[in-house]
Amino acid sequence: MNQTTDQTHQGCIFCRKEIIGKSFCSTPLFSAFYNIAPILPGHSLLIPNKHCESLFELTDEELGEMMVFARKITSVLKTFFNCDSFDWTIQDGVSAGQTVPHLHLHIIPRKPLDLPESNEWYNKIQRSEDGILDSENRARLSEKEYNEITDRLKVACASINK
Ligand code: 5GP
Ligand code: ZN
Repeated sequence: MNQTTDQTHQGCIFCRKEIIGKSFCSTPLFSAFYNIAPILPGHSLLIPNKHCESLFELTDEELGEMMVFARKITSVLKTFFNCDSFDWTIQDGVSAGQTVPHLHLHIIPRKPLDLPESNEWYNKIQRSEDGILDSENRARLSEKEYNEITDRLKVACASINK
């Protein structure tokens, strides 16, 4: 990652204080926060705290730390949302569908028959890029709902960094 003093990138929505400040779990390098418009219950995002766009900007060590942290978070989410499976996806680059140019891993807890087609999550993520974030198909959480789920997940993750 780019080791500059200012670790944020002007105009990046994931570099805003509101995002990092509302994470439910973090390490010095990475943060996990709830998706404002989850495609399924538990849909969370994991990002590097410093601005970077692509996996290729991480060192091997950082990549390892990111995956280990992601697995810990996923384990908590699976228990919390009573799920038996999960999807992980990174859209790395515009051609791959990345809309927020700050590296992020989608973590989506899954249950049997939670979507008509088990791979429907991909279309749902794609559709968020077509500007339907606030539509009835994919409701945006209210600030109260977002804060509540974040607080509950903070408690659930409390043991992770100990
Ligand atoms: P992408 O389409 O780039 O793979 O994913 C961007 C994700 O960020 C989408 O799933 C979208 O719902 C989520 N998102 C966009 N803006 C915000 C925000 O302000 N707060 C949170 N928590 N998530 C956001
Ligand atoms: Zn950023």
